[in-house]
Amino acid sequence: MTDSEDDTGVPVHCDACETRTRVPLSDLADAIERHNEDVHDGEPVAEVDPVLKEQLADLVVEDLGLLEEDA
Ligand SMILES: [Zn+2]
Repeated sequence: MTDSEDDTGVPVHCDACETRTRVPLSDLADAIERHNEDVHDGEPVAEVDPVLKEQLADLVVEDLGLLEEDA
């Protein structure tokens, strides 16, 4: 197994860019915010992989505000 450099990261998926990258949990919010700001003018396009987001919901995602819904 040599094709996964960082198995410990959290999969971040961006629909618009069609990219999926792994980001260390400690850098998760930053990386997503940075990507969205740099590439998407601040629009929340990139996000944690939906499947994982559910798994992480109780742990961190809530904390990061990634589950915010349009009110
Ligand atoms: Zn993107």
